Amino acid sequence: MTTLIKVGVSACLLGERVRYDGGHMHDPTITDTLGRLFTFHPVCPEVECGMPIPREPMRLEGDPASPRLMTRQSRIDKTDQMLSYCNQKVQDLEKADICGFIFKKDSPSSGLYRVKVFNPEDGALREAGRGLFADAFARHFPQMPVEEAERLNDTSIRENFIERVFAFRLWRDSLDTRP
Ligand code: SF4
Repeated sequence: MTTLIKVGVSACLLGERVRYDGGHMHDPTITDTLGRLFTFHPVCPEVECGMPIPREPMRLEGDPASPRLMTRQSRIDKTDQMLSYCNQKVQDLEKADICGFIFKKDSPSSGLYRVKVFNPEDGALREAGRGLFADAFARHFPQMPVEEAERLNDTSIRENFIERVFAFRLWRDSLDTRP
């Protein structure tokens, strides 16, 4: 029997109804194509840090290098709640045996690249941020292959991600078998 490699995934991409509006963002490229190679470990940082479904949408605000996570209308700062969760979650994920992570694009929690950051002073949106959980994950696991789901529709990017996940697995297995 072959044991499939485990990869972390933003839970909404697997069809879990965890989004702010109670919906999901099921991505068949992940479940159908990559699902032949990997098993998945779902993570929804917003729900896991204690936010309800549905919930008020949020966005990143302020300095793109150190943004705040704010609710859009009521303007409640959720940054500390999320960062406290992230600090514990990355420790827990060390024991989850995952060899990569696929993130949901554009999310202020899970987006990996060019997430919009609102500047309250001039009202501008800059595509310069990273979701707070994605950032904590990438900092804690600098060697772990990571990618955004949408980019995996590109065959060459997908194949590159698969190769990196298998290479990571081999590398970690080699560390485990060292005398
Ligand atoms: S926090 Fe991440 S996993 Fe949860 S709904 Fe938003 S994008 Fe999906």
